[in-house]
Amino acid sequence: MDLGTVTSFRSARTRADLDLALGEAPLAGGTWLMSTPHPQVSGLVDLTTLGWPDLEPLPDGGLRIGATCPIATLATSGRSALFARGAAALLMSFKVQQVATVGGNVCLGLPAAAMTSVLAGLAATAVVWTPDGAERRVPVAELVVGDHRTDLAPGEVLRALEVSPAMLAAPSTLRRIALTEHGRSAAVVVGVATPAGPRVVVTASTPHPVVLHGERDPRDPRALDDVAWFDDPHGAPDWRAAMTARLVAEVVADLDRSAA
Ligand SMILES: Cc1cc2nc3c(=O)[nH]c(=O)nc-3n(C[C@H](O)[C@H](O)[C@H](O)COP(=O)(O)OP(=O)(O)OC[C@H]3O[C@@H](n4cnc5c(N)ncnc54)[C@H](O)[C@@H]3O)c2cc1C
Repeated sequence: MDLGTVTSFRSARTRADLDLALGEAPLAGGTWLMSTPHPQVSGLVDLTTLGWPDLEPLPDGGLRIGATCPIATLATSGRSALFARGAAALLMSFKVQQVATVGGNVCLGLPAAAMTSVLAGLAATAVVWTPDGAERRVPVAELVVGDHRTDLAPGEVLRALEVSPAMLAAPSTLRRIALTEHGRSAAVVVGVATPAGPRVVVTASTPHPVVLHGERDPRDPRALDDVAWFDDPHGAPDWRAAMTARLVAEVVADLDRSAA
């Protein structure tokens, strides 16, 4: 669609080009930016021209996912079964997944952003470039803080997402429910078996990822007692709460079976 308020477009080539002026927004795949009006946006800065590698092995055997990596590329990477399952949980078609980026999916901050689901599930770390030229690292589970809200400050750009080798290799599972077969996810629950027990992350039914691990034990029936449930046309909060509890139990059972 035409973005009537946008009067400038820049292709970023170096980090210095990411010095965003007031009203400039980073442009990744553009599948959301180009789909709805953004009256507050007066300029776009293309991140895809920075030439960030899609996928890079880390020296410790982990994986660094460039923020501009297309979802389809990650889904077919074979590095974790969760990547393909997460992509399948998205409402978007395979054609949109060729263009939509992993970073754009996370930065948009939708509760049903399945790249957030799987990366939070894998305890991934977000590498964030700050406007002063520095870098900070934050767990993906803490980067998304609400519906369409992230922890990113103005001018910050998500550079990459890193997953440890242990989490890539660990048994994992994903369960999802939606009101209709091809509808937007109402609840997505991802589980990974860790030496400290199952690590389970709830998304889509909550405004931000909820991690069930350690003190918040996914086996504890009270683990979800204080959770605030998301409310939108894709599912009523009480239904989401009931379905999430069921999915969490199924995910824990999946992980128990894989350990047996
Ligand atoms: C048919 C269709 C179905 C969809 N289904 C879903 C769905 O099921 N779940 C879902 O979550 N979304 C869905 N979307 C919304 C959107 O397309 C996806 O979230 C997509 O992954 C966004 O990625 P993008 O690269 O296109 O982001 P863009 O549209 O380019 O950007 C999205 C937002 O993130 C910001 N941004 C992008 N990259 C960065 C970065 N590296 N650092 C800082 N900020 C950044 C942009 O400024 C913008 O605010 C759908 C869209 C369509 C058209």
